Amino acid sequence: MQQVEIDDRLYRNVLGSFATGVTVITTEVDKMVHGMTANAFMSVSLKPKLVAISIGENARMLQHIKDSKQFAINILSANQQNKSKQFAGQLKSESEVTFTYFKGLPILDDSVAVITCDLHSEYVVGDHTIFIGHVTGVKLEQNDPLLFSQGKYRELKALEESETTI
Ligand code: FAD
Repeated sequence: MQQVEIDDRLYRNVLGSFATGVTVITTEVDKMVHGMTANAFMSVSLKPKLVAISIGENARMLQHIKDSKQFAINILSANQQNKSKQFAGQLKSESEVTFTYFKGLPILDDSVAVITCDLHSEYVVGDHTIFIGHVTGVKLEQNDPLLFSQGKYRELKALEESETTI
């Protein structure tokens, strides 16, 4: 394969221009709850219901998911910006977080939605591992989502006459 030199900063900026929601991945190992902020999340399949997350090789969450073989994806709401920062290790002083339980997994209250999964399969791809989750439960609230684009947290603003279904 031909090697093309692409500047790392430019590459990050280009990929960061793809606006996403923000999730916190949660799991439990030996009665200890672990969480990590992630926006590399996508829907994979409807039948069966499968989703994917991508975890960096240096993240502690990698081993936690391998150990627990299950995880929850908490899709954050606009008022959970601090949770995103806390679970990305970006807060100087962290507060204690209260988790509730859904389908046997710790989850964050006030999220827009929660998806619980059993680990279906995993693929090491470069410096990340893609975990495929087999969905075991879903939960939906009436909150607006937190967005992330171009290195900043953002809020949703509806455009007029933009309703569509896919
Ligand atoms: P740790 O460093 O152990 O935990 C992260 C933080 O969460 C720590 O500060 C810790 O105190 C806190 N925490 C963990 N458990 C608890 C608990 N039970 N109670 C209270 N606090 C707790 N990285 C990826 O690999 N993939 C992605 O898709 C991704 N997307 C990101 C999107 C955004 C918007 C941001 C800001 C970061 C993203 N990251 C992503 C980076 C990732 O969130 C950080 O590198 C993270 O710190 C790695 O966490 P860790 O598993 O090593 O866990």
